Amino acid sequence: MLSFKTAQTIVEPAHSTPVVGEFDVIVLGGGPAGIAAAVSAARLGRTVLLIERYGFLGGMGTAAGVTNFCGLYANVFGEIRQVVHGVADEILAGIDKLGGLNAPHLIFKKTYGRAYDTSAFKIAADELLLSAGVEIVFHALAVGVVMKDDETIRGVVFETKSGRGIALAHMFIDCSGDGDLAAWAGASYETGDATGNTLYPSTMFRLNGVDRDRATDASREIGERMAAAEKEGFRFPRKTPIIKPQKNGSEWRANVTQLANADGSAVNGTDALQLSAGEVEGRRQIASVFRFLKTVPGFEQSYIVDIPPQVGVRETRRIIGGYQLTEADVIDCASFDDTIGVNGWPLELHEAGDVTFRWQSIPDSRGFNHLPYRMLVPSRIDNLLVAGRCASMTHEGQSAARVSGGCFVMGQAAGTAAALAIASHCAPRDIEVPALQARLERDGAYLGPTA
Ligand SMILES: Cc1cc2nc3c(=O)[nH]c(=O)nc-3n(C[C@H](O)[C@H](O)[C@H](O)COP(=O)(O)OP(=O)(O)OC[C@H]3O[C@@H](n4cnc5c(N)ncnc54)[C@H](O)[C@@H]3O)c2cc1C
Repeated sequence: MLSFKTAQTIVEPAHSTPVVGEFDVIVLGGGPAGIAAAVSAARLGRTVLLIERYGFLGGMGTAAGVTNFCGLYANVFGEIRQVVHGVADEILAGIDKLGGLNAPHLIFKKTYGRAYDTSAFKIAADELLLSAGVEIVFHALAVGVVMKDDETIRGVVFETKSGRGIALAHMFIDCSGDGDLAAWAGASYETGDATGNTLYPSTMFRLNGVDRDRATDASREIGERMAAAEKEGFRFPRKTPIIKPQKNGSEWRANVTQLANADGSAVNGTDALQLSAGEVEGRRQIASVFRFLKTVPGFEQSYIVDIPPQVGVRETRRIIGGYQLTEADVIDCASFDDTIGVNGWPLELHEAGDVTFRWQSIPDSRGFNHLPYRMLVPSRIDNLLVAGRCASMTHEGQSAARVSGGCFVMGQAAGTAAALAIASHCAPRDIEVPALQARLERDGAYLGPTA
């Protein structure tokens, strides 16, 4: 049986690894955060390499079939407004141009989400990055770092079908979602709640052949239908299912699975063996839920059109930076002087067997918190920024700001900050934050009122 916890080791022969390129900025990972980071640094005149293990961009949005943007809107004193702009607007426009963007849909009658087609997201992201001059290496799995000294990264080591290579840079942005680069460089991080248990992953799937109108009516009471089906012997991995139409009304996405280990703990998205078992378990759960859905009006003729390339991972490592965004910050709509943008999404905790949402006071509050620049800046490493779901947040804070809206905000700020740090010959932690904020606003970002 395969085990990575073994005492037996073999020392591989030492070998020389080619230095395949040198850049101003290297971005690891092409999810929402990495897309925004790479574009923003490149537009400020920096040479940028983005390293991505898959053959497409979008991160969990495409690789895990999320197909829905949350966190772009907030309920501002009763009025739902788009509060994330900048690079996010360009991605939305690119997807819309390809006919792949749904109109905003209400979520719990409190805010909006935007469903999208994964193929349109992939194309829009390619176009955006290439038009900004970003160099992309796909099918490249980063596996380590080369350090100049304890505080300075020199290069990223990655494996490809062309062999192993090292790319060098002055500044690095970890948008891997898992904090891979930060962890290899020795940055401090946390994982999960007080017991180390992370938000539970889910395998998404999409159905086609759905009768939109009948399914829309039936889906309003899907929770009750599941409870009734359980009495007839169906078993569901979690409560609070999300089953919603895509742009083409015959195609629906289902976010209903939950992946646990035998002891009930969440599948760890940085453990190859847990992920392997999780992939199989996710597809098993999908087959089971699909049998139930075929009994629901509107879904009788439906079929599974897609199970995405990988398990959807919500949380793994979260680096410890200059500030950790907390539950109270989200619920109380906190303000920070070093705001880089805002998060309007509530806490969304994927716990054993269910999902718990905890909202800002709606409609009595402005419905969003500032995201402080310090959450992108790891405490120790001098030439590293970390953006997206692995940025500096508590377990609860991350359950909110990890959604796409917050990740676009963090990515744009990290890319901009990396370029400013290079121009100012300083570490990201020492840049002039008002200059960063001014640049972000000039580039269309909304930072939220600071008064
Ligand atoms: C099941 C599920 C449902 C969700 N539902 C929603 C929703 O409805 N709306 C919403 O807005 N958000 C949702 N989310 C959250 C959201 O999709 C993610 O949190 C968001 O995509 C995180 O963006 P990111 O850029 O930080 O990281 P990711 O999207 O995880 O992107 C990281 C990228 O880095 C690459 N990468 C990682 N490690 C390496 C490496 N070593 N070498 C090379 N490449 C690497 C990955 O392939 C990936 O492309 C959901 C998440 C899950 C899992």
